[in-house]
Amino acid sequence: MASVTGRFAPSPTGSFHVGNLRTGLIAWAQARSQGSRFVMRMEDIDDRSRPEHGQSQLADLTEIGIDWDELVYQSARRACHDRVIEELLSRGLLYECYCTRADIARAPTAPHAPPGAYPGTCRNLSDKEREAGRAKLSGMNRGPALRLKTSGEAVTVRDEICGEHTGYVDDFVIRRGDGAVAYNLVCVVDDGTDGITEIVRADDLLSSTPRQVYLQRLLGIDTPAYYHVPLVVNREGKRLAKRDGDVTLQALKERGWSVREVIELITDSLGMRSASAEEFLERFNIRDIPREPWVFIPPAD
Ligand code: GLU
Repeated sequence: MASVTGRFAPSPTGSFHVGNLRTGLIAWAQARSQGSRFVMRMEDIDDRSRPEHGQSQLADLTEIGIDWDELVYQSARRACHDRVIEELLSRGLLYECYCTRADIARAPTAPHAPPGAYPGTCRNLSDKEREAGRAKLSGMNRGPALRLKTSGEAVTVRDEICGEHTGYVDDFVIRRGDGAVAYNLVCVVDDGTDGITEIVRADDLLSSTPRQVYLQRLLGIDTPAYYHVPLVVNREGKRLAKRDGDVTLQALKERGWSVREVIELITDSLGMRSASAEEFLERFNIRDIPREPWVFIPPAD
């Protein structure tokens, strides 16, 4: 059997809440329960990333008992991301896009494409139209984005928790107008570089997965197994956020909770109540995790 490698790939844009810790714990347990390698990848190329958030996230993960074999900072991989963009360019698979958000919102959707899909406005422009597009953007102090020339098809992915998910793959952005490389590209390239065979992450990313699988196929990267874990929500059913109250490990500790109690809270929400990460590992079976979002109501004053 081919060897398994798992990963957790947080963005260091803020402190973790209990939901992030829960997803991290599941990703770790899924790899470790098979005796597998586990990679921690800090997705620190977002403008909102801060080294101190990365440090606090890693400290929280360590505190609840998660370990890793390798720590990767995505920002160190720029040369590798640029090489893949060059490859796609030389294969004629990228084109410049001069559209602003407002342009896209105004344009009619292409036939058979769902609402919100990129309508292909800049796909077949003449040299003259491209020049005009560049001039328009430079007046706005921006460069063109690069979009992938896709075949405009629906891609079905198999998720081990959610079942089959089909998404239409439009001409999505590979490099933004400000030069930042888009999440879908860096994610696919880094997972390929790290030899990731199993991806456990929150289910808000299920909708990005058809695009990522499409890219994997283009780049000759094997598609990993996917496990999208239900999100943690507040009492209104909205994605949990810091403004919901004491939702971080440190805030709960300040309220007098022990790390053990926080681990019990998280693992109890999975129906696998455990006092430590080690104990959780013994109980853990990814097939048993609840399919419903976890409603977390922070302790009140
Ligand atoms: N960095 C992304 C996030 O924190 C996750 C990316 C992934 O797991 O593919 O939402």
